[in-house]
Amino acid sequence: MTKPLQDKVAIVTGASRGIGAEIARTLAGAGAKVVVNYLGSRKAAEAVCTGIMQSGGESLAVKADVSNSAEMRQLFDAAIERFSCVDILVNNAGVLVSRSIADIRDEEFDRVLNVNIKSVFYALREASTRLADGGRVVSLSSTVTRLMLPNYGAYAASKGAVEQLTRVFAREAGARGITANIVSPGPVNTEMFTTGKSEETIKRMAGMSFAGRIGEPEDIARVVLFLVSDGAGWVTGQNISVSGGVA
Ligand code: NDP
Repeated sequence: MTKPLQDKVAIVTGASRGIGAEIARTLAGAGAKVVVNYLGSRKAAEAVCTGIMQSGGESLAVKADVSNSAEMRQLFDAAIERFSCVDILVNNAGVLVSRSIADIRDEEFDRVLNVNIKSVFYALREASTRLADGGRVVSLSSTVTRLMLPNYGAYAASKGAVEQLTRVFAREAGARGITANIVSPGPVNTEMFTTGKSEETIKRMAGMSFAGRIGEPEDIARVVLFLVSDGAGWVTGQNISVSGGVA
């Protein structure tokens, strides 16, 4: 039986761990050949690829710092060299510094903006000329852009920019049949969310969702799969909250 993403090639940035790893596995399960981008977690990225290959899929782990324009170009080069084209781009890599505006240091603010905004800008710039006609883009934002959570100023600002870049790209690339959408998760059970948080804080934040739990990476990956599928061809420029009702 033909799979929904048969013969499609996907790049997932930051796919060594967390939500990105699950998106990579999910797209591969739907038949896509997946480029698993990573920066520091080589073994984890290779394990994601091994899992995909053991399930009969194809994948390639590529190290690239996506906040660097030359490395982003090389990431697209590697994907095209191995799989001939790129049909799907998932802008997932991101970092969080959780600190109040009063306390955040210059270098921390720069790091959040560099990784979260520049990565998406560089990827969309490459995608403008190198994503196949009819291609798909999904960028990961966060429900924090709809809330006013203390300590999330830099992160929320960076994700606001991710949303705007992706929306404008949707408009610019629309004539080629490309769609671009944003997925905004609420709290998700990954290192980014759990690191440095007490059980009590996690429980309190879980209480923000209607189901009283935090999200799992699978909850997010399923929605990304829909947005990159043929069935979502008339959905573009949208920001989909995937948060169990958080915002
Ligand atoms: P994790 O911290 O678990 O994983 C982050 C991933 O990004 C890793 O694979 C890491 O790679 C990669 N990464 C970080 N910096 C770079 C870089 N410069 N170049 C390449 N890769 C990089 O994060 P999550 O899975 O939780 O988050 C994924 C996305 O979802 C992010 O954009 C995040 O902002 C967003 N999000 C997460 C939420 C949550 O609660 N978890 C909620 C809302 C949004 P490596 O380890 O190899 O360096």
